[in-house]
Amino acid sequence: MASNSSFAPPKLSDFILTERLGSGTYATVYKAYRKGDSREVVAVKVVGKKSLNRASTENLLTEIEILKTMRHPHIVQLKDFQWDADNIYLIMEWCSGGDLCRFIRSRRILPERVARRFLQQIACALQFLHERNISHLDLKPQNILLSGSVLKLADFGFAQYMSPWDEQSVLRGSPLYMAPEMVCRRQYDSRVDLWSVGVILYEALFGRAPFASRSYAELEEKIRSNQPIEKELVLQAVQKDQEGEKSAALSLYCSALEHFVPSIYYETDRQRKDALRQKVSQYVSRAEELKALVASDNRLSFEEARTSRDVLREMSRDQPRLLAALEVASAAIAKEESGFDDHETLDVYQQCLGELLLVLAAEPQGRRRELLHSEIKSLMTRAEYLKKHIKMQENQRDVSLDREPLSDTVRSCDNEDVSHQF
Ligand code: ADP
Ligand code: MG
Repeated sequence: MASNSSFAPPKLSDFILTERLGSGTYATVYKAYRKGDSREVVAVKVVGKKSLNRASTENLLTEIEILKTMRHPHIVQLKDFQWDADNIYLIMEWCSGGDLCRFIRSRRILPERVARRFLQQIACALQFLHERNISHLDLKPQNILLSGSVLKLADFGFAQYMSPWDEQSVLRGSPLYMAPEMVCRRQYDSRVDLWSVGVILYEALFGRAPFASRSYAELEEKIRSNQPIEKELVLQAVQKDQEGEKSAALSLYCSALEHFVPSIYYETDRQRKDALRQKVSQYVSRAEELKALVASDNRLSFEEARTSRDVLREMSRDQPRLLAALEVASAAIAKEESGFDDHETLDVYQQCLGELLLVLAAEPQGRRRELLHSEIKSLMTRAEYLKKHIKMQENQRDVSLDREPLSDTVRSCDNEDVSHQF
């Protein structure tokens, strides 16, 4: 109930709840004002009672207990808590800068100087917690808030009292930031927080979590591997390349480059920097070649698509919405083929794809639906291809200018899906 953003915020006697600041596993958090003269701004974390089972009720009580008894500049302050028939409300200090996840996304990567300052603040909070035998157990960028340039640990929903060598066996937190002993052996102690901090630091510096994966098995394999992450990706790219899987190889080269490019930027040794840059241009060239090959493969299938698109258009005369969306699709293709600005072309593809998917949802079974389906697939291939192209150009530009890759116009967000639970 409370976690559904489409509903109006709940009512509280002392506060006026306004915009939604975010939501996670259990709760929705709103910005709010205290009624009366002070107009104090706070953040209210609303947890629907219905969503609570025994375990999550205990988690919430621990969260309240821990936060209520602690005061620290780098830990979010719990001012009060209240409840009514439907919800439990945690009244917290409002952090104007949102969470660290959004902060990193909007800047793509953080300069080392900023990451260092953040790390010091997190370490300071962790030391304070661990001295009190408290482990957070769910450290990740979404649970770290910003108030100006001050970081504050938040979301103590999984936190536990735990002395340094207490062994636990319950799986908590988010796999991507979880220590391997927690994922694999389910036996861990308070040191797991340190692992999470390492993952967060990496993400701050490189713009993506080091072990972005789609399953536990993949995550475990990546963590176990002794190879540096970018090397691992290059090896996989080379293998796919040898197996003739051009499109997969191209994607892997692009991912590897996303790691390599920032590492050129951070390398201070001149010689190693040059060596890295040389390697990267080698990968960029191969990626360029692959791109051309994939393009010529695509061209054949696009030729076939053209014929069926004409048929589809003929069959859509009585469906103005579909016809209009197909017009937009043709405009996108024309833009792409005439070498128009990539970002704008991609926007047009995304626009017509959104529209066509809606039409598809309402389209009854039959020949037209089949044609529409394959048209959408073909347009998606084109859009994906364009995205790769844009990413590659960004990488190339970052290498040649040897500066911080700041633009975040097109970012792969493929680590988003594992930032929460699988
Ligand atoms: P959950 O337990 O559901 O994960 P969180 O406490 O992590 O809930 O809050 C969810 C999101 O709401 C956070 O990731 C953050 O974006 C936003 N948020 C939470 N608390 C605050 C706050 N005090 N100030 C500003 N934003 C907040
Ligand atoms: Mg959270």
